[in-house]
Amino acid sequence: MPPAMTGRFAPSPTGDLHLGGARTALAAWLSARAAGGAFVLRMEDLDRPRVVPWAAGRILEDLAALGLDWDEGPDRDGAHPAAFYRQSEAGPRYQEALRHLEAQGLIYPCYCSRAEIARAASAPHAGEEGPRYPGTCRELTRAQRAAREQEGRRPSLRVRVEPGEVRFVDAVHGPCRFDPHAETGDFVVRRADGLFAYQLAVVVDDAAMGVTEVVRGDDLLPSTARQILLLAALGHPPPRYAHLPLVLGPDGQRLSKRHGAVAARAVLEAGVAPGRLVALLLSTLLAPLPDGGPAIPAEASVMPRDLVGRFSLAQVVRAPTRVDPSALLASLR
Ligand code: GLU
Repeated sequence: MPPAMTGRFAPSPTGDLHLGGARTALAAWLSARAAGGAFVLRMEDLDRPRVVPWAAGRILEDLAALGLDWDEGPDRDGAHPAAFYRQSEAGPRYQEALRHLEAQGLIYPCYCSRAEIARAASAPHAGEEGPRYPGTCRELTRAQRAAREQEGRRPSLRVRVEPGEVRFVDAVHGPCRFDPHAETGDFVVRRADGLFAYQLAVVVDDAAMGVTEVVRGDDLLPSTARQILLLAALGHPPPRYAHLPLVLGPDGQRLSKRHGAVAARAVLEAGVAPGRLVALLLSTLLAPLPDGGPAIPAEASVMPRDLVGRFSLAQVVRAPTRVDPSALLASLR
């Protein structure tokens, strides 16, 4: 019998598991396990230039140290061989999806450089994801494409996005609406250097792995609309989404190395008991109980298996949490 639902955690092995990632993994695992669901781990090691070779193994160790387990993953054959759970080895899967999109006339080659897109964009301010793509290469003729190829330009592949809103209900953010046509325009599914884009890979993988619930950071909330469009084009229903608020440093910027010991491993190696870190991370994510008491006291020590059933995505707050790593370490000791 298939599991009631399937959750997942999909880290990018670009360094040690940081506190924000650890908190996301805990929430995703608890939500899946509370529903009697399966949990899948996937290494998003597609962006080879950013991947560091030791990170994937250490992330698995750190997740296990925090008391998490998984039914399928790169170290564990679940329904598939272990390689299935590493994006770097899943090229044929993405290629197949591209063929599917291509057959529907949804894909076209784009020869623009980043600088050209920035110059052509009508919006003066580029968002975090860069300026909206103005559609320069959308309707090129065969001859125009050939001319650009002759210049030695290597194209990326973009998917056509038609005007219209994409709506979904996020378990944390409630009803959401985005207009990918207006916000990003046609977006890249394969880069000019031949690497498949995150937006395509994540959708293909979640569908292939039977993922029905995606819990991740809310920096990816705007990506969700594009992913829903791709899922629909590939004939898959969208999963349930829960986008968690980010963990910020004391200066309000996204937590990063310059804020100090931000790796879960560094905290554990400093002698902090895993249960203390688990409680502290989850306490920053949950709204107080109706009586005003904390859902999980920050000073508790508790492992994830003891929290199954006591954690629900419905309790998650929307506001980001500020964390000062050195104060955190001192408070945990
Ligand atoms: N690999 C992404 C990250 O580590 C997460 C992607 C996702 O959960 O969809 O930020």
